[in-house]
Amino acid sequence: MSGRTRAGACPERTCVGCRERAAKGELLRIVAVEGACVPDRRGTLPGRGAYVHPRAVCLDLAVRRRAFPRAFRGPGPLDTTALRRHIEQSAQAERATP
Ligand SMILES: [Zn+2]
Repeated sequence: MSGRTRAGACPERTCVGCRERAAKGELLRIVAVEGACVPDRRGTLPGRGAYVHPRAVCLDLAVRRRAFPRAFRGPGPLDTTALRRHIEQSAQAERATP
């Protein structure tokens, strides 16, 4: 056994909201498309991505600290309306499933 850890087996990312590290699969990838934050569920959209827990609290934190414009190196605020709706809907769907 060498000193190597399981590098690459479980990639971690930092949530731009609460700043906690989590497995990539637990976080929602966000990309900026035409001035709006767009959820990238499959992780296939091109461009710079930011990662956030799919929770309203983390989205609020990210918005408050302007994490998205910083992450995307954008000039100004980004529209998070569609992203918020997406997160709220997935939270409801999670609650609905037994
Ligand atoms: Zn978070």
